[in-house]
Amino acid sequence: MLAELARMYVSYNFTPRADLLVIDDTLANLRLLVNLLRENGYKVRAVSNGYEALETIQKSPPDLILLDILMPDLSGYQVCQILKEDIITRDIPIIFLSALSDGLDKVKAFSVGGSDYITKPFQVEEVLARVKNQLTIQWHKKQLELEILEREQAQEALRLQYQREQALNRVIRAIRNSLEISTVFSTAVTEIGQLLQADWVAIVQYLSQSNSWQPVVEYSPNSDLAKLINNKLSNSSCLLTERLQLLQTFCVKDPETVIDPFNQDLIEQYSRIWLPIPVYSDGDAWGSLSIVRHYSIPWSETDVELAVVVTDQLAIAIEQSQLYQQLHQVNQELENLANLDGLTQVANRRRFDQVLEQEWLRLRREKLPLSLILADIDYFKLYNDTYGHLAGDDCLKQVARALHQTLKRPADLVARYGGEEFAVILPNTSLTGAIQVAETIRDSVYNLQLCHETSPGQGVITLSLGVSSLIPLEAEAPQILIKKADQALYQAKNKGKNIVCYF
Ligand SMILES: [Mg+2]
Repeated sequence: MLAELARMYVSYNFTPRADLLVIDDTLANLRLLVNLLRENGYKVRAVSNGYEALETIQKSPPDLILLDILMPDLSGYQVCQILKEDIITRDIPIIFLSALSDGLDKVKAFSVGGSDYITKPFQVEEVLARVKNQLTIQWHKKQLELEILEREQAQEALRLQYQREQALNRVIRAIRNSLEISTVFSTAVTEIGQLLQADWVAIVQYLSQSNSWQPVVEYSPNSDLAKLINNKLSNSSCLLTERLQLLQTFCVKDPETVIDPFNQDLIEQYSRIWLPIPVYSDGDAWGSLSIVRHYSIPWSETDVELAVVVTDQLAIAIEQSQLYQQLHQVNQELENLANLDGLTQVANRRRFDQVLEQEWLRLRREKLPLSLILADIDYFKLYNDTYGHLAGDDCLKQVARALHQTLKRPADLVARYGGEEFAVILPNTSLTGAIQVAETIRDSVYNLQLCHETSPGQGVITLSLGVSSLIPLEAEAPQILIKKADQALYQAKNKGKNIVCYF
């Protein structure tokens, strides 16, 4: 509101130093008008024919033209038409001058583009009022155009800001929605590449062991540029390397910072086109977001700001991904703890039950055989009594390892079933196949030649093994397989140990 009032105040008190041009072939009229207007504070130029008028206007366009209609060579209408066709002069208001006796055609005066007319003989007040009126209209028109331009510029700025915010949101969303750092990186380089109209964008990681900078992801891949930049960054005397390590953003453009030929070369090649921004992690330089753009578009402050905000988001993503990796590792360890036997590092009883159940259901569907071996170390209590529990533990570990090494297929599972008892699940294996595996296991444990002096048997650690095999049926449970293998094992023990029996 205040602005409106101020504008009105200005409009009614605008300076009368407007630049006017009077064109009339009657010198008496010309003199009269020039004097009148000058006395009222206007700056006035005067010419007496159409051609001269056009020349003067081309050299320096006036704010307002007073134009006689009847003139030799070029009429006022003709001059007016020529001016209205030229983009530079078409907006200059024209007031026609005409004697009533000349037969003024008012319709034509307006149709060729005139803004007003004054009839001769002139009346002082009328001339001044009409001139002032046209100048005021013209002034308002210009103000309006200026406002429209400002509004358009403001809209364009808003549009750009909106675009930037959208792009940033997409990067942030990618970070929230993905724990895959590679997805986050490729989203970030694509978004910023498109938004900043970059020719090349890369996330470059600093590898401290080799003191090198490795592009991790690129937008508009350009391996030559990647190599060149890596080469520049890997030189520790490079300004950029130094600044990035100090976590400073440095637009390559400042020739004053050049001290040696290497950096001189850098400035010459990349001045105003290469924008490297440090990406940090845990307060140290992790790498850089490097953006290269064509010479014709210099970096603006908002470009740099946007790139810095994106790198902040990248830093968050990197930390998030590192945390996720740690979490994943911890989970893996927890899972191992839950599934492995602490002493022998083969599957524990819990895992055995799970796998047996799974395989039972799977092979029941597929109508294929499932085999089980139960193996028990012979005279193990005696071994413990003779050599002590530490030696007993060590014996268990070696037997477990031997079992584990015997199995070739990924689906086969060795588990510690009880104290000195192990179980082997052999999916998709017939009784004959399972007996062969059991024999191999028996051999390999015997071949360990673990001395057992007090053993009534072979003088070394041996295994007795019971094998069972069946195609799982709807009406049965996996316990039947265990029960049968257990009975076979019992038989093996009774028959003198170090043998394989099957049900
Ligand atoms: Mg005339």
